[in-house]
Amino acid sequence: EHIANQIAAGEVVERPASVVKELVENSVDSGASKIEVQVEEGGLELIKVTDNGLGIESDDCEKAFYRHATSKLANGRDLFQIRSLGFRGEALPSIAAVSKVRLVSSADDSGLGRVIAIEGGTLKENELTAAPQGTDITIKELFYNTPARLKYMKTIQTELGHVSDVMYRQALAHPEISFSLRHNGNTLLQTGGSGGLLQVIAAIYGINTSKAMIPIEGENLDYRVTGFIGLPELTRSSRTGMSTIINGRYIRNTGLQQSVLRAYHTLLPINRYPLVVLQLEMHPSLVDVNVHPAKLEVRFSKEIELNAFVEETLRQALSQQVL
Ligand code: ADP
Ligand code: MG
Repeated sequence: EHIANQIAAGEVVERPASVVKELVENSVDSGASKIEVQVEEGGLELIKVTDNGLGIESDDCEKAFYRHATSKLANGRDLFQIRSLGFRGEALPSIAAVSKVRLVSSADDSGLGRVIAIEGGTLKENELTAAPQGTDITIKELFYNTPARLKYMKTIQTELGHVSDVMYRQALAHPEISFSLRHNGNTLLQTGGSGGLLQVIAAIYGINTSKAMIPIEGENLDYRVTGFIGLPELTRSSRTGMSTIINGRYIRNTGLQQSVLRAYHTLLPINRYPLVVLQLEMHPSLVDVNVHPAKLEVRFSKEIELNAFVEETLRQALSQQVL
């Protein structure tokens, strides 16, 4: 049982950033309006995620760590219409197999909740405790019992960079949620939760967005696209500033990036990449979310139409500003 868990854990838990991703996705799924993330030593020593979401019922706290325990999949068909971020019930057991976990959660405002402690997949504690509504989960000493995996970790700075990327993506995908990230006590990211996407972009990229970002807005029968694209002075030498969000999920899609670049480069023919955040909304049946939980790829059922629509919307947004 332990060995199986550790092997499966390798698929989900690659590095501290993968833990942060899974935990924050759970917090988003729980309906939280505030999600605080605290890491130490790039996440290798400690990862702590606190949310004010729905919480976990007292009787379900231990079950949440059983393999394939998920409250998010009603039937097989749902796999094709995935709205919530997690859907396989793999994250918590996988993380608990390779670390020391402490979960405190309460599903109501009684002030009472449950604490669960698990080390290397073994249950150490399961008690009632005082707890506000929401969930607080602490991961200590990631990979302490899998030294081979630990050896592959890069520098603290590299691991922290991946953790930050995960947080940036979540913050961009959910401007309505207040996110914070602290590393060794220093605040690296703080989004307000009420300032909208522009404020999130400002917090992440540290720019005066009100002048530098052009709003994007378009809609047809199948798609709605909103977001912002930066003026030429904000361009970069790589695509690191190009973000795409579909139905609240950060994804990567070359076709959409190409559509943005075609629109951008016709007007501004330069060998650079824009700062751009595309928010797309569509019926879930129009997008096939890759079934591997850690992957960012998606497939669209009407890809050509979608790409044309995005390119045209971008052209219009840019033509109004640049001329
Ligand atoms: P999945 O997200 O795929 O369902 P996880 O292993 O990530 O699987 O989580 C297992 C279950 O634990 C979830 O389905 C959910 O019911 C519960 N859970 C985990 N984290 C939270 C949280 N922060 N708030 C509320 N419920 C949570
Ligand atoms: Mg999950």
